[in-house]
Amino acid sequence: MGIANLARLPSPQWDCQKAGSGARLRCMTNQSICPIEETQSVEEFAQSARDALAKLSPLSRLRKLRHELPRFERQVWRELAQAGWPSILVPEAQGGLGLDLRHACAVATEVGRNPLPEPFTAIAIHAVCVLCALPESEQRNQLLSGIASGELILGIGWQECVGQIEPDETVETCATRTTNAYHLTGQKRWVVPGSGAHGWLISALEGSDLGIWWVPADSTGVTVCEVERVDGSSCATLTLQGVEVPQSFKVGHGDTALKALGRGTEMARLAQSAELLGIASRAFDITLDYLKTRIQFGKAIGSNQALQHRMVDAYTQLELASACLSQALRQVSSSPELLRLAASRTKARCADVALLITRLGVQLHGAIGFTDEYDLGLFLKRALQHASWLGSIDKMRLRHHDEQALCASDTPKESVKASLSLLGNTQWSAITEGDFRALVRAFLKRYYPEHLRHASHRLHWHECKDWYETLSEHGWIAPAWPKEHGGMGLPGDKLLAFIEEMEDYGVCRLPDQGIINLGPVLIRFGTTQQQAQYLPKILCGEHIWCQGYSEPNAGSDLASLRTEAVLDGHEFVVNGQKIWTTLAQDATHMFALVRTSRDGKKQAGISFLLIDLDSPGITIRPIQNIAAEEEFCEVFFDNVRVPQQNLVGELNAGWTIAKALLGFERLFVGSPKTPQYALHLLKKIAHSRGLFESERFVARYAELELDVTDLKSLYGKFAEIVKRGEALPPSVSILKVFATETYTAITRLMVQVCEEDGGQLGPVELGNESVNVLSPLMNATITTIYAGSNEIQRNILAKFVLELPT
Ligand SMILES: Cc1cc2nc3c(=O)[nH]c(=O)nc-3n(C[C@H](O)[C@H](O)[C@H](O)COP(=O)(O)OP(=O)(O)OC[C@H]3O[C@@H](n4cnc5c(N)ncnc54)[C@H](O)[C@@H]3O)c2cc1C
Repeated sequence: MGIANLARLPSPQWDCQKAGSGARLRCMTNQSICPIEETQSVEEFAQSARDALAKLSPLSRLRKLRHELPRFERQVWRELAQAGWPSILVPEAQGGLGLDLRHACAVATEVGRNPLPEPFTAIAIHAVCVLCALPESEQRNQLLSGIASGELILGIGWQECVGQIEPDETVETCATRTTNAYHLTGQKRWVVPGSGAHGWLISALEGSDLGIWWVPADSTGVTVCEVERVDGSSCATLTLQGVEVPQSFKVGHGDTALKALGRGTEMARLAQSAELLGIASRAFDITLDYLKTRIQFGKAIGSNQALQHRMVDAYTQLELASACLSQALRQVSSSPELLRLAASRTKARCADVALLITRLGVQLHGAIGFTDEYDLGLFLKRALQHASWLGSIDKMRLRHHDEQALCASDTPKESVKASLSLLGNTQWSAITEGDFRALVRAFLKRYYPEHLRHASHRLHWHECKDWYETLSEHGWIAPAWPKEHGGMGLPGDKLLAFIEEMEDYGVCRLPDQGIINLGPVLIRFGTTQQQAQYLPKILCGEHIWCQGYSEPNAGSDLASLRTEAVLDGHEFVVNGQKIWTTLAQDATHMFALVRTSRDGKKQAGISFLLIDLDSPGITIRPIQNIAAEEEFCEVFFDNVRVPQQNLVGELNAGWTIAKALLGFERLFVGSPKTPQYALHLLKKIAHSRGLFESERFVARYAELELDVTDLKSLYGKFAEIVKRGEALPPSVSILKVFATETYTAITRLMVQVCEEDGGQLGPVELGNESVNVLSPLMNATITTIYAGSNEIQRNILAKFVLELPT
């Protein structure tokens, strides 16, 4: 291979220096050499890739090269090699940068956003990772050095039949050994790159032993047949007819070779997922811009709610894919044994999202989106190529399902006694999260009534009073309140762990409006007297509060509320009606939003009032819901007199107070634990009915299982914000929407697979136990309505996150 005369790159170049124990990068720009800490290096890499792509490879290049074999340019690849692209994962000993997959994926995402004709993932990830996992040899090291320098373009020939996702699934190519050489015969398909490559690594069987051979492209007996792909790239079918290669070209065999091919392919799937994410995000941006500028019917098309909601759903999927990829990369770096699991879920999610968003993009552009001249089609076709290559969405989902069953290991059972010894400890920040979770679990095991686990309906006060008091006696009733007000004072991370452990254990929801909503409101907006008067009584359960916001004509449009409070001396006189008030019949008090002014904006005339439900003039009527339970009520106020000192905050400032705690509520409703539990029930039902024998069921189950897994990653992203003590952004609404809709989908399937039993009131027998299959469906039905209906959440996201026109 000759040494090329390399052109100097205008974009930043990367050099790697050892500094202390970790690598430090120097970004070599024309102006200066700036040292970059490793923590910054991923974003710096992405920026460098962005610049290089913009300068070296405009989309017009992609359009031009799709008609010219080999459909990429070796010279451009060499220039990218100067910027370090193929050497990211190559060890320093072979002239590489010796970095990790996060850096490679940062570049791959940029390649997705700005599609490149050169096969980055195939060479820089797939080939490099297979080689790196092979035993050291002169041949292997030379190949790696060649790739790092940009002089060697190398592909992998490992697949032979449609749908093959494992390297040992079908191998008919065989290798026979003579005195000095090997002879390879067989056919490899979907090899990338094909005709532009200098050679390939080919898997073949020598007897029953799988091996890998380096086969130069100019070897006699090799035929390359290019198969054009939808995106203008190509895969090759390689036919090998007794191709002779020296014995030293065998670079690995047996278990090592199989593992190397497996590892390389999984790493390629992760990089491919990053590329798919890049494709999706660019198509999304193009479409969002278009919705803001295209005028029809005299207004921007993006002001139509139907389109807004579709974009919000696309945005949710994009965030889901991004959270999934980030978590997969973290998982792979801390637990390499999870590589297959991580690659399966990420490829499935990112391919699905890229196809969804590129197709949506074309739809929302109308006819122009279907033209070749408009860029969107390039992204759709790239998504189609990557979704089909290296494993289809369905195959990846199924593999994730199988793999997860294998990886699921029992968490060690901690000693209840040892954990409970921490109970007296209130220095929460001094306890590790693991110990804290163990303590909560031990506490629940010791004190939570077994018969109340995973209750099938919202419990009334008489059913859960004892549990409320137990928590109260241990000082555990108000985990989020500061200690000086009698709460646990849990920091953000422990608070989330607390909620998660409670949900995981199936702890019932208490009449908790005093704890969750009113307490924090009083602590922030109440007077000292109000705090002293009410907080202790919430803690001990003497006061049970309900939330009086909604009215017959003020639901989603809450600011239209009409229940009126007129000041008369030192008392407000309240008249009107509240509705859908959860467990008002069990409550002693209500915090209510009331109208105290009709001047100006409707939000500006609302006040926050504390009302004793024993006051004369109040009538509470329970309403039976569709599950035949009296969970909510209507509450009538007829000249009810409320002391003026029961006003919280300023007069007419109630709207600000009401909005103050919404973010945390959405995180609470968006927790993955409820859908996770529903999935667990679905699994139980499926096992008892032999449904895992049905391919159709398994496919649907695997999809829902992935939805829950990715929801956990998305939740983790927002939980991190809470842990850092920062305010939740408005985008937290995606969590509420996705969690509640995933929950709904699981519970619908649960009822459906129960067939006749799906209509049964009360528990259904499943072998040794029984499950109420309808109650999760009923629970799920309300989650999409309360805490701000999902349609309203979508409106919020469209306006405040996507900034679509109104
Ligand atoms: C089980 C349960 C418990 C509840 N508990 C309480 C409680 O304790 N205290 C309390 O105050 N309230 C409570 N609520 C009421 C809840 O907050 C409201 O139901 C919710 O705000 C929706 O209002 P609505 O029912 O009047 O529906 P509406 O606002 O009439 O909406 C009807 C439908 O139209 C959609 N919609 C409305 N406006 C728009 C729009 N601009 N764009 C798109 N779609 C729109 C909604 O999403 C919904 O699908 C509870 C509700 C339920 C189901």
